[in-house]
Amino acid sequence: MTEKASKRMTSRDVTVLGAGIVGLSIALRLHLDGFKVTVVEKSEPMQGVSFGNAGYLSEANIFPPASPDMLRQLPKFMLSKDGPLVIKPDYATKMLPWAVKAVSALKPNSYQNILSGLASLTSVAYASFSELLEAANAVHLLTREGGLVAFRTLAGLEAKSRALPTWNSFGLAAERLSADLIRDMEPELSNEIVGGIFFKNSGRCSNPRALGELYARRLIEDGVRFVRDEVRGIEDVGSNVRIHTCTETITAERVVLAMGFQTGALLAKFDVKVPMVSERGYHLMLPRAGVRLQRPVVFGEPHFAATPMDEGLRLAGTAEFARADAPPNMERAHMLARLAKRYLPNLSGIDATPWMGVRPSLPDGLPAIGVMRSSPRVAYAFGHAHNGLTLSAITARCMSALLQGLAAPVDLQPYRLERFLQTDRSTA
Ligand SMILES: Cc1cc2nc3c(=O)[nH]c(=O)nc-3n(C[C@H](O)[C@H](O)[C@H](O)COP(=O)(O)OP(=O)(O)OC[C@H]3O[C@@H](n4cnc5c(N)ncnc54)[C@H](O)[C@@H]3O)c2cc1C
Repeated sequence: MTEKASKRMTSRDVTVLGAGIVGLSIALRLHLDGFKVTVVEKSEPMQGVSFGNAGYLSEANIFPPASPDMLRQLPKFMLSKDGPLVIKPDYATKMLPWAVKAVSALKPNSYQNILSGLASLTSVAYASFSELLEAANAVHLLTREGGLVAFRTLAGLEAKSRALPTWNSFGLAAERLSADLIRDMEPELSNEIVGGIFFKNSGRCSNPRALGELYARRLIEDGVRFVRDEVRGIEDVGSNVRIHTCTETITAERVVLAMGFQTGALLAKFDVKVPMVSERGYHLMLPRAGVRLQRPVVFGEPHFAATPMDEGLRLAGTAEFARADAPPNMERAHMLARLAKRYLPNLSGIDATPWMGVRPSLPDGLPAIGVMRSSPRVAYAFGHAHNGLTLSAITARCMSALLQGLAAPVDLQPYRLERFLQTDRSTA
């Protein structure tokens, strides 16, 4: 670190709350940048939604969650029990503030700002991993063979192809491929595929859980303190922050809130209401899938991913808006194998294991990364929704720059919480 940088640093003692991929990436980045780091996690590291994602480092995920097409189909989704998108009736009213904001994100100005805000992050996401991977001996877990979206109907392919100019306008490499070319790349795909889209710069993590665990191991080996306890509240007392857990009060000079979906509950105690919803997703891990893919393949209709991983083929996706603590419906995970067979006819579901995780979803699809204006000792990084693995390392770089008072690698204005809280004087 340069002398100039260290002079500008306000404080070097930071406690990170949450040891999912976002919190661990921040903790490791800060540790490497010379901060004294403590991590507080209520469970083991990487047992939240970071445990089971699709491992797809996707440049292409730059669109907000709502779309005109989705709104048209909303009544159907509300009634469906097993579609790719489900809204549980008892969650529908809780989702209203989110839904209102998700729809207003479709206004032309907001929409463009969201695309540009997400593309600024996804376009530099892959490159941001290198130092963390080297520090954690995890270089072998990331590869960059690109990613495919495959379609079984021309209508689906045409609809998706309309986004090509948008991706290309942000410098994201996306090209339409014929069915023959796609099957050359992925011979296991069915003859019914009509074509698809290839993102040549997208990447893959072959074991998302292991990635975070290797980060944690490096931190622990270097003597970083991990506290296993549940955070109940935080208090900014001016000279420092008090973190109240179930069993103790930890004093920190600065704190980073990175507790995924649960960050919303903690902020509410801080009088900050964030319109975050629980968007649950499922995976089905197939240790003996009987087919080999070279890269993540997203099936276009319905939309979910198949990613080759160290432990087999992982089918992952779907959106189920439901209370985070409601019992999982593992039938939704098993449904993925039936749907995937339309694309991969030789797929075997032997010994499949299902899993469910809660995506922290904000209505515009942008993550929340910043420092509370009213409490400069409190920083936050959460709400990464479908992109948390992809954006973990760039989020960590941004956070380290923020805490050092340095220019961040991307303009952080779009990710500030104030975008939801313009009338809330506590953060303004
Ligand atoms: C099916 C599925 C597929 C996905 N596929 C992809 C993909 O291919 N690519 C991609 O980029 N993203 C993907 N995602 C999204 C990605 O997994 C998430 O965005 C990311 O994991 C969020 O990480 P996080 O660290 O914010 O949250 P978490 O992993 O949930 O971590 C939060 C941590 O905070 C801890 N915590 C919570 N409350 C407290 C408390 N009070 N006290 C102490 N600790 C607390 C939790 O125990 C947890 O460990 C997918 C998600 C799903 C569900």
